[in-house]
Amino acid sequence: MFLVEGNQPAFGCDLKKAENLSEVVLRDGVWETILCNGSVMLSAANKLNVNKLVTLEKITPGAEDLIERACRTCYLSFHRYDPPKSTEELIKKILRKKHHSVLEHAHATFRIKGGSRVFTHELVRHRFISPSQESQRYVCYADKPGRQKTKDFEFVTPPTFIGDDFDFTEKYKKQVDLCYQLYEKMLDAGIPPEDARYILPNGTTSEIVITANFRELRHFFWVRTNQRAHWEIRLIAIEMLKIMKREAPIVFGDFVIDEKNMSATGEIET
Ligand SMILES: Cc1cc2nc3c(=O)[nH]c(=O)nc-3n(C[C@H](O)[C@H](O)[C@H](O)COP(=O)(O)OP(=O)(O)OC[C@H]3O[C@@H](n4cnc5c(N)ncnc54)[C@H](O)[C@@H]3O)c2cc1C
Repeated sequence: MFLVEGNQPAFGCDLKKAENLSEVVLRDGVWETILCNGSVMLSAANKLNVNKLVTLEKITPGAEDLIERACRTCYLSFHRYDPPKSTEELIKKILRKKHHSVLEHAHATFRIKGGSRVFTHELVRHRFISPSQESQRYVCYADKPGRQKTKDFEFVTPPTFIGDDFDFTEKYKKQVDLCYQLYEKMLDAGIPPEDARYILPNGTTSEIVITANFRELRHFFWVRTNQRAHWEIRLIAIEMLKIMKREAPIVFGDFVIDEKNMSATGEIET
């Protein structure tokens, strides 16, 4: 279970009251969102496409064709250019032979909403992924004198907070709420958001746009869809991988997604 608190337009919900929450449940690899009021469920399950959280903004047009034509330059082997057959044959060959630099000619840009700053911190460690992230200096999660809030405050609750014989979600929510109340008070007192944000938790959601070339994306999927990766980045990486498998099936075709365990394995290490 993956819980996102607060107003969550990314889910198509319009939750205005602090006590409302949008609960996102992962069942058999399908994410669903349920509108709740406290712990009382108000409405029927509202199917959520997690791809609303992860959207492809832009991709190199004819990416795999471009990779083939770039690669053929190395050997001046254009007489063998006969797509789609030659594209598949050549890309599979370069993957096997680790001639991975040719994958750098193609890029993809994703918009990711609803992930926590824990997730984005892990994401931005990847040095060939170019990020543009929601700034807690310029984005306000509460009204302040002379300025309305930019967006509602949202945070992620990890699924492990609920166990067989414990449930820390309410305690967590209370502590987060206390942090948020102090944030509001600080803004009221004239403290700038760039300093008031120190009190906000790691679980605070953060919108981010990233661009990466296909070589880096393959590496990212290799390390972040693996069972050893943290669940949040793993779930988001898998959604990105699904998109890339659809958009560039030859380059990303060796990755097999295990929906049950929410992980993926690639055949060719990057
Ligand atoms: C399961 C897991 C656990 C982790 N735990 C921790 C942790 O406890 N603490 C922590 O600090 N980080 C942790 N990390 C993050 C990790 O250390 C890296 O920062 C992150 O994976 C991104 O770096 P990267 O090498 O994978 O590749 P990227 O930055 O995505 O770069 C891609 C590739 O380019 C090459 N490359 C990039 N830069 C250089 C360079 N300067 N010199 C030579 N080659 C380069 C390497 O081949 C690299 O693999 C963890 C990552 C994973 C997947």
